[in-house]
Amino acid sequence: MTIQQKIQTLRDELNKHNYNYYVLDNATISDFDFDIKLKALEKLETENPAFFDVNSPTQRVGGTVTKNFETITHKNRMYSLDNSYSKEDLLNWEKRVHKILGTTETQYTCELKFDGASINLTYENGQFQKAVTRGDGFQGDEVTNNIRTIKSIPLHIKSDFVGNFEMRGEIILPIVGFNKMNEERLANGEEEYRNPRNTASGSLKLQDSAEVAKRPLDCLLYQVVTSERKYKTHFESLENARKVGFKVPKTIALVNSIDEVFDFVNQWDAKRFDLPYETDGIVIKVNNLQQQEELGYTSKYPRWAIAYKFKAVQVSTVLNKISYQVGRTGAITPVANLEPVQLAGTTVKRASLHNADQIEKLDIRINDTVFVEKGGEIIPKIIAVDFTKRHDSSLPTIYATHCPECNTELVRKEGDAKHYCPNEFGCPPQITGRIQHFISRKAMDIDGLGGETVDLLRKEGLIQNYADLYDLKVEQVIPLERMAEKSAQNMINGIEKSKNIPFEKVLFALGIRFVGETVAKKLAKHFKSIDNLMTASFDELVNVDEIGDRIAQSIVDFSNDLNNIQLINKLKVVGIQLSVSAESLENQSEKLKGQIFVVSGVFHQMSRNDLKKAIEDNGGKVSSSISKKTNFIVAGDNMGPSKLVKAESLGITIISENDFIDKIR
Ligand code: AMP
Ligand code: ZN
Repeated sequence: MTIQQKIQTLRDELNKHNYNYYVLDNATISDFDFDIKLKALEKLETENPAFFDVNSPTQRVGGTVTKNFETITHKNRMYSLDNSYSKEDLLNWEKRVHKILGTTETQYTCELKFDGASINLTYENGQFQKAVTRGDGFQGDEVTNNIRTIKSIPLHIKSDFVGNFEMRGEIILPIVGFNKMNEERLANGEEEYRNPRNTASGSLKLQDSAEVAKRPLDCLLYQVVTSERKYKTHFESLENARKVGFKVPKTIALVNSIDEVFDFVNQWDAKRFDLPYETDGIVIKVNNLQQQEELGYTSKYPRWAIAYKFKAVQVSTVLNKISYQVGRTGAITPVANLEPVQLAGTTVKRASLHNADQIEKLDIRINDTVFVEKGGEIIPKIIAVDFTKRHDSSLPTIYATHCPECNTELVRKEGDAKHYCPNEFGCPPQITGRIQHFISRKAMDIDGLGGETVDLLRKEGLIQNYADLYDLKVEQVIPLERMAEKSAQNMINGIEKSKNIPFEKVLFALGIRFVGETVAKKLAKHFKSIDNLMTASFDELVNVDEIGDRIAQSIVDFSNDLNNIQLINKLKVVGIQLSVSAESLENQSEKLKGQIFVVSGVFHQMSRNDLKKAIEDNGGKVSSSISKKTNFIVAGDNMGPSKLVKAESLGITIISENDFIDKIR
């Protein structure tokens, strides 16, 4: 096999596994084996830059930074949809359709209306070319690099489909993934995201595509746009799109009348809450493409399609009690305990009340009859009080003043929506939560120890903080519930192994409020050791790029707390990595400080990513587009001609890969 064939075989194989897992939901390889193959491909591609391909599975991890998303005019306008709310609305729509077509022979497709952000994907010669957001319908933002990280989107189509085409669909964030992201945010002391829809559309505009790659986004497709007349109907074109690799939901149905449309509506009105993602209605489309063309568009909508919006389901019930939950960071969430009531096929007993302001705004009181609503979301919410049913004796709700877990007086800082329990080191859910965060995958990644065991260890008095983990002995752990000698030994080994975790991850693991993964990386790089970081002043901290007041203050507070100082000392004694290793220090300098680089073309000595890393490691900055601020362009083979013209017109110095290596040597 030639190198090129080897590369192609690996790409095909990895594409196939991605397809099986992300489109068919049917894993055919372990994560571990997948990673091995991906690494092998990465190596071959780095060694053989001539075979670089933006659509290789290795490019899915992201890493490009886009400062300004380019505005692109849609070749075919992206319309919005007219709405309907009743059967009558739909019958009227059908009347108009029949009148224009001069026939009553019409078939429709019924599809779920996915609640996310619409996207237009362009394919040329079977290759994914670009992705553009809907924007105002006429023009949108080009978000190609971000979209490439979504693994259910095929980067090339193997078999024959239709010449060049566009696929339209919705970028969504499944509920499970959304909740997981929020758990992590809570653990980092950050505000939760409000809903999957906004989070999905916000994700598309993140500057760093590696961040997008980490989000569990998905893309559901619902329209093929092409000038070819290969398929006669919308349904047929989608069925074939699915066959060539697109994720076209199987929930689509073909019907012959508005009565049947309504059967579909009724069926999904209740079942929609069981879907893994949110939907707020259905979309009805005239199936015949020739008829679609005859119907055409109004100034805003296609005449051949209409959305039907589900009604939010509402019931009333009695509020028995308000309880308060304490999160990992001490944030308090009030929860409504309701008289159980049936709502959209499930029994509802609890609803979130968000915070004190929400309770005050709605004037919610114990024993009130309240209206509970379930929209697209899983957690029902209280939308109003039925004041006609309020008892004369009812009194306004007094918000909790003390922590339900440890009885400490709650505090609420200016600007915060939530109350907090300040008893960081004595409040059980906070202690457990912090240790659970410490051991999590992106932090110390401790194998053989799970969240429940952490809680058990704390209850048994074996650990009070994460540093205590390193004192644990096998004999102490074996007697615990559901522990055996083997699992105890695994756990201790996992803890021991975490002593090799690099400083930037340790810094994230410490759970300093507002210090998430990315911030931890920046801080580790700048300060190089925990001692430097903890002795830094507020001013020194805010002077670091992208570190704001909030983060700086949080670090200062952390560093001044005697408990934390003791904890860190203990971690030092047990041998945790609390500074950047000598090896990575060796490759770092400030030689390129203040200089902005653009990297373009194919390189021979190092991969593009390594080159970018080398720029950053030496204090420089990488930008994706050339501007007046650019200092150098590192040009490899095949640098884009438009870039060259722009660089020359701005008088920017162009250097070769070798010049660059000399610079940092
Ligand atoms: P609206 O934003 O309310 O005008 O609704 C139109 C949007 O619904 C489109 O831009 C699509 O992003 C979205 N949509 C979701 N599911 C579908 C679907 N199955 N067919 C067409 N559009 C859909
Ligand atoms: Zn507490």
